[in-house]
Amino acid sequence: MSKRDYYEILEVSKNANAEEIKKAYRKKAIQYHPDKNQGDKAAEEKFKEAAEAYEVLSNAEKRQRYDQFGHAGVGGAAGGGFGGGMSMDDIFSHFGDIFGGGFGGFSGFGGFGGSSRGGRRVNKGSNLRVKVKLNLEEIANGAEKKIKVKKYVQCNSCSGTGAADSSSYSNCSTCHGSGQVTRISNTILGQMQTSSTCPTCGGDGKIITNKCTSCAGEGIVRDDEVISLNIPAGVEEGMQLSVSGKGNAARRGGVNGDLLVLIEEEKHPELMRDGNNLIYNLNISIPDAILGTPVEIPTVEGKVKVKIEPGTQPGKILRLRGKGLPEVNSYGRGDLLVQIQVFIPKNISKEDRKAVEKMQTSESFHPSNGTGESFFSRMKNMFE
Ligand SMILES: [Zn+2]
Ligand SMILES: [Zn+2]
Repeated sequence: MSKRDYYEILEVSKNANAEEIKKAYRKKAIQYHPDKNQGDKAAEEKFKEAAEAYEVLSNAEKRQRYDQFGHAGVGGAAGGGFGGGMSMDDIFSHFGDIFGGGFGGFSGFGGFGGSSRGGRRVNKGSNLRVKVKLNLEEIANGAEKKIKVKKYVQCNSCSGTGAADSSSYSNCSTCHGSGQVTRISNTILGQMQTSSTCPTCGGDGKIITNKCTSCAGEGIVRDDEVISLNIPAGVEEGMQLSVSGKGNAARRGGVNGDLLVLIEEEKHPELMRDGNNLIYNLNISIPDAILGTPVEIPTVEGKVKVKIEPGTQPGKILRLRGKGLPEVNSYGRGDLLVQIQVFIPKNISKEDRKAVEKMQTSESFHPSNGTGESFFSRMKNMFE
């Protein structure tokens, strides 16, 4: 299933500014919020879709990559299995920025402000960066790569809680278990009550008295993880794909960071890349240029047979349509350009020398006796 355009999802124009995008997302988030659409799967999908669109478009770097490369540029390649979307926790962890501050929280909707997520500070794991080297064949076809990364993963002994067992907690003495601290201040409008996340327990309402020994109470440990990456066809050196949630695990059951995959390209021994086109330099002999010959050309799908026509001029370019590289996240495909060069030997045998001397005096080898082509028709022939 292909993904919808992020701008379309939020119903904003391509050049919408940050404020317009935020506003549009806020509208969608309210419209499709799970608390308002209980049990409605379609609304939940729309809610997630909008969050994903916002996640990309609200980040200048991601938005630029999306504008340039589409979903593939931000880890959402169509059919690529990349990314895997955002979890509800990811989505709610953003709400502080969207609805916080002057917006007045969620008091407008029943149940929202009181949800268990409200006010709890969510730890976010850091992003991981890896490089993946691909050869031209892999770039042409897309590739599944398994990579081993050393990263923070959830501690198995405590399931990421950081506590030795379920009795290892006591109520937080700062907030008395509420997770919130309330401050009352006097203003000209009367008493104002502001509440914020408890700094001692981070909003949990309890603190760990007996820490898990495997992770020293962090809830995470270093370990190797094998991650399978689906790299879409057509990627390019320097492109960065992001796999959401595959970065470092966060302390004490927070939200995982992302895995950022930097693409590196291995040089092909024979084919040169120019955007989506490939270039191959073909060296033929003088007799082959004059008499024509069948040749084999390497492509990313193996060798193909091509006929060199009699009378082929040096510098002529043969275009093998569709034998280049696919466009990333699209249907187009580049061409393979075969640049023909004619090999001129420096050292020749006595016998050959005689033959060439004969050519030298022969009328048919004289340039003025050529086809009489104009410069422009010659140029045109080069690209036929
Ligand atoms: Zn542990
Ligand atoms: Zn507390």
